[in-house]
Amino acid sequence: MSKKADAVIIGAGVIGAATAYELARKGYKTLNIDKLPAAGYGPTSASCAIVRAHYSSWDGVAMAYEGFFYWKDWENYLGVEDESGLAKYMNCGTLLLESQTGHHEKVLKHYRDVGVEYEEWSPEQLKERMPIFDTHAFYPPKRPDDPHFWDQSEDELMGAIYTPGSGYVNDPQLASHNLQRAAEAHGGEFLFRSTVSDIRRDNGRVTGVTLADGLEIDAPIVINVAGPHSDIVNQMAGATGDMKVRTKPLRHEVHHVPAPPDFDYDADGLHCSDGDTGIYFRPESGNHILIGSEDPDCDERQWVSDPDNYDRHVTEAQWEAQVFRLARRIPSLRIPNERKGVVDLYDCSDDWIPIYDKSDVGGYYMAIGTSGNQFKNAPVVGHVMAELVDRVEQGHDHDQDPVKVKCRYTDLELDMGFYSRLREINPNSSFSVNG
Ligand SMILES: Cc1cc2nc3c(=O)[nH]c(=O)nc-3n(C[C@H](O)[C@H](O)[C@H](O)COP(=O)(O)OP(=O)(O)OC[C@H]3O[C@@H](n4cnc5c(N)ncnc54)[C@H](O)[C@@H]3O)c2cc1C
Repeated sequence: MSKKADAVIIGAGVIGAATAYELARKGYKTLNIDKLPAAGYGPTSASCAIVRAHYSSWDGVAMAYEGFFYWKDWENYLGVEDESGLAKYMNCGTLLLESQTGHHEKVLKHYRDVGVEYEEWSPEQLKERMPIFDTHAFYPPKRPDDPHFWDQSEDELMGAIYTPGSGYVNDPQLASHNLQRAAEAHGGEFLFRSTVSDIRRDNGRVTGVTLADGLEIDAPIVINVAGPHSDIVNQMAGATGDMKVRTKPLRHEVHHVPAPPDFDYDADGLHCSDGDTGIYFRPESGNHILIGSEDPDCDERQWVSDPDNYDRHVTEAQWEAQVFRLARRIPSLRIPNERKGVVDLYDCSDDWIPIYDKSDVGGYYMAIGTSGNQFKNAPVVGHVMAELVDRVEQGHDHDQDPVKVKCRYTDLELDMGFYSRLREINPNSSFSVNG
């Protein structure tokens, strides 16, 4: 284990590992340091790993669309074998239900501008394709203790937007391991069970990191990909001074229920973004359904002050909120007695849009604020972060003249100024997991 690296990456989640792979491909000697025992063991492991393109901005849609092609081309993109096997892209397609949130209107415009393939479905087509769905509108989302939660509705949903290219990755932790192996094939190293406790600086530039056990690693570049610990790490680097957008951890529950027995949700189910009831859901192996929250206003947000200390148990109140909402959309759902699910943290930015940027400390960068919606983008983020780091290290003034990166698969051009720490809060954001 050397005590020098060209770039230390704090964190080995899916984005930390993707950043390592892309920098290693460029010839940087990378070292990822993670306090957990393996790649993707943190929040990445709890991710629903849904890959869809509906975001509130052109930039959000474009990056996610580019991401589709990495997952479809995973084996080629990695260019290595992994003794644990490769993560699989489950290309089930996405339904974005058209609801009174109006989110679909913003999204449609961006789909046309970016070139995302989509179909508009009428309520009749929706019923035909998903006969287990109740296509009534229940807006606004409510909690089960609301006396109107189970009210009958006379209103129909407006329809749905179907994107055939989207889906989910079956094993987000394995995807991180795949990226680790790909980075290692280009000389990248990984150090697990090791906590970065200090970021050393001299003359306004990073010089390396110190670990909790006292080991010092010298590096002219340090990249914060620490997920919900990102603000703590930024403070360690003294890099928060000029930031207009900050990050903080948000607790989130995902629940796991059997699909109705009369429908093969594994084979025929779709990922569905249901802003009308306030949930998203997708197929899970064994004819199950995973249910997450789209953060409706009626659900109190559970900000966490210490990312190492929060309640990791599924709560009855949130389980009922999410599972009962699904039971409104799929009335034949059988409500199980046992509550199953996972609880983890989003690293949420003030406007739910990530920060992929440099900082005012020389050599210190960040890929943070992923706000519960950036698993899908991990390989794209690896690419854009490697380009950004490389150009800034060669003297480019990214704050004045934001780096633009040409996408590998779609040829779209991503303006990294969109993700700047110096931006004003983006008023077009959905301020939810939809970004
Ligand atoms: C419940 C849930 C559901 C989600 N669903 C989706 C989805 O369907 N689709 C989607 O696109 N995105 C989703 N996301 C978001 C997505 O999973 C994240 O954006 C992504 O996994 C972030 O990866 P990362 O590499 O930045 O960080 P993380 O996975 O958060 O990893 C950060 C790592 O940094 C390490 N670390 C932190 N501090 C230190 C330190 N001081 N020293 C050493 N190591 C440190 C941690 O141990 C951790 O392993 C979801 C997230 C959650 C929590």
